[in-house]
Amino acid sequence: MPGQLSNSLLGLSLQELTTLAIESGQPAYRGQQLFNAIYRQKIERLDQVSTLPLEYRAHLAEQGWGVGFPQIARKFFSSDGTVRYLVGLADGETVETVWMPEGDGGEIGDGSEAGNEAEIEAGTDAERVVTGLGPVQRGPSASLRAGSAPPPPGRRSTICVSSQVGCAVNCKFCFTALLGVKRNLEAGEIVGQIAAVLLEQGVEPPLQRVNIVFMGMGEPFLNYDNFMKSVRLLVEGVRIPESRMTVSTAGIVPRIRDFGQEAVRPKLAISLNASNDVLRSEVMPLNRKWNLAELMRAAREFPLRPRERMTFEYVLIEGVNDAPEQARELVELVRGMRARINLIALNPGTELPYRTPEQERVSAFRQILVAAGIPAFVRRPRGRDIFAACGQLKRGGFKVSEVSEVSLLNPRNLETLKP
Ligand code: SAH
Repeated sequence: MPGQLSNSLLGLSLQELTTLAIESGQPAYRGQQLFNAIYRQKIERLDQVSTLPLEYRAHLAEQGWGVGFPQIARKFFSSDGTVRYLVGLADGETVETVWMPEGDGGEIGDGSEAGNEAEIEAGTDAERVVTGLGPVQRGPSASLRAGSAPPPPGRRSTICVSSQVGCAVNCKFCFTALLGVKRNLEAGEIVGQIAAVLLEQGVEPPLQRVNIVFMGMGEPFLNYDNFMKSVRLLVEGVRIPESRMTVSTAGIVPRIRDFGQEAVRPKLAISLNASNDVLRSEVMPLNRKWNLAELMRAAREFPLRPRERMTFEYVLIEGVNDAPEQARELVELVRGMRARINLIALNPGTELPYRTPEQERVSAFRQILVAAGIPAFVRRPRGRDIFAACGQLKRGGFKVSEVSEVSLLNPRNLETLKP
């Protein structure tokens, strides 16, 4: 493919960059300079890395090396401030990355509760609005809905990142499943989505706070090594602390166990979505491989850090898993665990046979959990109007060339496009 870099530096670790430098007869510290230029400064063109001698930049280019940032092929703006990015990869595949300027509702998973457990225990403005359980108080989310100025950048901003092109897990209520899986993303393609969005938004960690959720297209634990490498690059290079990251898995039990042994790791969320095996196997066929008993055993044995809680996500589907009886079953499943439950009212779409429950039914379900002493929150849907909400990401099945109107090519990414 013309313009495709043979070698992308984005995705290489400090050690790999150092080896690359040494192999070209350069001093070892050139590796660190490259590392800083790519991940910290997010310089998109090798010829602009002024810390490196001109000859070395030219030498790398001759060898086919480039930084290799992905391009932003299209953007979709939601009325709630969410932006959905269609990100084009070097081979023409696309994935989706979502920017949520005030997090995804203050619920668990966007990292916003780090160091502020009390706020979460009490529930946030956004949760009260959704559940109707308390007064709407003044706060960034309320003011944004009222149409006033958006919150200061980075206050609780969250990037939702994809880990695969498509997904193989085949959950019956999820649109990404309709694509099947095309391929895994490289570590550099995962970091690249984040770097591209940070540049777009003009947000610079660590000065400006940003949370990362690995909850976009794909199953991160079926691309485990690249996912974990991207985490390390984000922590060491982009300088986003792992305490601000959450990964969500559909329940790949062996990888949950591996993940618990990682020295540096995001927080864990598990997509439960049903309260018994019959129901779960129906909506999530992977339950036939790792059933609830195995999944919950791995969850109970998972080594949580001090003050850490495990999150369980539960997508509420009308008439399928949203009955009070199922809420009571869910209570028994998680009883005694240091856990919290994120309830997500189904994000609807025409291709799927499922419907979204009424708000009262969602509130009643939550109330049963809360009454049993389990922290439970209703996630405010973000970007539904632009199909950016949970389970709605599915454009990754298109090649960039098939997207009718590539409206907003990012000029900063010409390096990946130039002929
Ligand atoms: N594969 C991972 C991460 C991607 S899905 C996982 O399964 O956890 C992120 C979250 O969106 C999951 O909790 C999933 O259950 C939820 N989800 C999927 N489809 C949805 C839909 N149509 N409406 C609401 N949430 C959905």
